[in-house]
Amino acid sequence: MNRPGKIVCVGRNYREHAKELGNEVPSAPMLFLKPPSAVIASGAVIEMPAASQRVDYEGEVGIVIGATLRRATPAACAAGIRGVVALNDVTARDLQKSDGQWTRGKGFDTFCPIGPEWAGVPPLDAITVVTRVNGEEKQRGSTAELVFAIPDLLSYISHVMTLEPGDVVATGTPAGVGPLKAGDVVEVELEGYSLVRNTVDAQA
Ligand code: ZN
Repeated sequence: MNRPGKIVCVGRNYREHAKELGNEVPSAPMLFLKPPSAVIASGAVIEMPAASQRVDYEGEVGIVIGATLRRATPAACAAGIRGVVALNDVTARDLQKSDGQWTRGKGFDTFCPIGPEWAGVPPLDAITVVTRVNGEEKQRGSTAELVFAIPDLLSYISHVMTLEPGDVVATGTPAGVGPLKAGDVVEVELEGYSLVRNTVDAQA
């Protein structure tokens, strides 16, 4: 896909995932950004930075925006979706914790693998996301379980920053996050829609 203008992410949007990291479910969506420079395609290599001892996968449903959405209603946001992508919100978990904010831990080059775009609007409350490492299933979630449903999430974001065509919104990761090591093959699949598969290597 073309590089998005911005990638807006939400933390702790699945109850079980918030719990597994010892966090409360937030009362409002917890937003952060990943830089467009982190995007890689399926088949490219995820580079583990030397600065981190713990790089995790986070399989997520990515929403591709197809309209200009500014202070838009949930219904208008749902109508403004262009497609969906499998997205891996790769995270240097140790740096995310030690920095106290997430820009570095979430922002390294290669930390945002994005699969081919499926054009259209699937049932927004019934998308299944699965993460596998070396063929073994590690995460399985459905957007039915989201704390903040996709139209509400997009509307909330649009009241902060204008969503523009090509922007991507990552909707949070289900339980089961875990570390990657050099040589691993990690894939995130939106069943029936998109798949992104990448190998992992130490930073050259
Ligand atoms: Zn995430």
